[in-house]
Amino acid sequence: MSETSPKLRAELEGIPTYKPGKPASADGPVAYKLSSNENPYPPLPGVMESVTAAALNFNRYPDMACTGLMNELAERFGVPVSHLATGTGSVGVAQQLIQATAGPGDEVMYAWRSFEAYPIITRISGATPVQVPLTPGDVHDLDAMADAITDRTRLIFVCNPNNPTGTVVRRAELERFLDRVPGDVLVVLDEAYREFIRDMDVPDGVQLYRDRPNVCVLRTFSKAYGLAGLRVGFAIAHEPVAAALRKTAVPFGVSQLAQDAAIASLRAEDELLGRVGSLVGERTRVADTLRAQGWTVPETQANFVWLRLGERTLDFAAACDQAGVVVRPFAGEGVRITIGETEGNDIFLKVAEGFR
Ligand code: PMP
Repeated sequence: MSETSPKLRAELEGIPTYKPGKPASADGPVAYKLSSNENPYPPLPGVMESVTAAALNFNRYPDMACTGLMNELAERFGVPVSHLATGTGSVGVAQQLIQATAGPGDEVMYAWRSFEAYPIITRISGATPVQVPLTPGDVHDLDAMADAITDRTRLIFVCNPNNPTGTVVRRAELERFLDRVPGDVLVVLDEAYREFIRDMDVPDGVQLYRDRPNVCVLRTFSKAYGLAGLRVGFAIAHEPVAAALRKTAVPFGVSQLAQDAAIASLRAEDELLGRVGSLVGERTRVADTLRAQGWTVPETQANFVWLRLGERTLDFAAACDQAGVVVRPFAGEGVRITIGETEGNDIFLKVAEGFR
């Protein structure tokens, strides 16, 4: 029997499919999932209450404009509502940003290695990814990125702190870079891990965007605020960019559960940021222990650490699995380990010690 299939865009052929993360109990005694940079704390009771209340109405569509959340964000960040856009996680907003700015023949630039979604969402748009290698110290090479700008560059991601290395770009170098970027190129400061930064020299994108119309700041409720499973992120940008994002949003893409949980989380920010403080303390302990074991660990300002393991990467990840922690390997390069519960971190540290 002959079969006809719909004609799909040829460019889709080469785009990898997202692979599901390994569940924490996949094989063996696995109890701790340190592979997706999630927040290990359970939801706050107040946030849970807002979700439960919203769930009573899930026969209804959510507020398409996210009105309550937009108002709350405008107040929290001191920006007009017209400078805001929400989306299905910050990866959803990043995809909208590319769709709004770049198509076939256009270039989207980012450092590499960085967030794995950048090449995927660039290709989905039919645009060309331009990957500029990190320095040998695993930091953005902003001079090389500025040198790589062409007439076709439409959008540049700067992931600060960078996933998976945790490294940051500091104020002076970022401002020098922004001064070199032509005004018609959009620079997206992806600050998914912003709340974990303790280095005072790292600028807050929300300050930088104010007098730079070509800067857009991406934030998420998935990490510090612990709402990864509810999918809500947002962008702060000047009116034309924010308006384009609102136009390209998937209708009803942010559920009412997510909107109400995000509002409740902003109202419980002190408590949530207290938890972030504990995770930052644990990050210091983990990084210091690794260095005492003899590892070179790049200075991380996010909720994860990066270990360069080269050819030993997959063996290391397998040993972690066996011991009861799931980490995120990048074959041939290294392993990213999320800072989680103390017990899980300790199991990982033990494996690391055995690999020295
Ligand atoms: N940006 C970066 C740098 C990330 O690491 C992630 C999540 N891994 C995201 C964006 C997307 O997060 P979310 O879609 O959950 O907001």
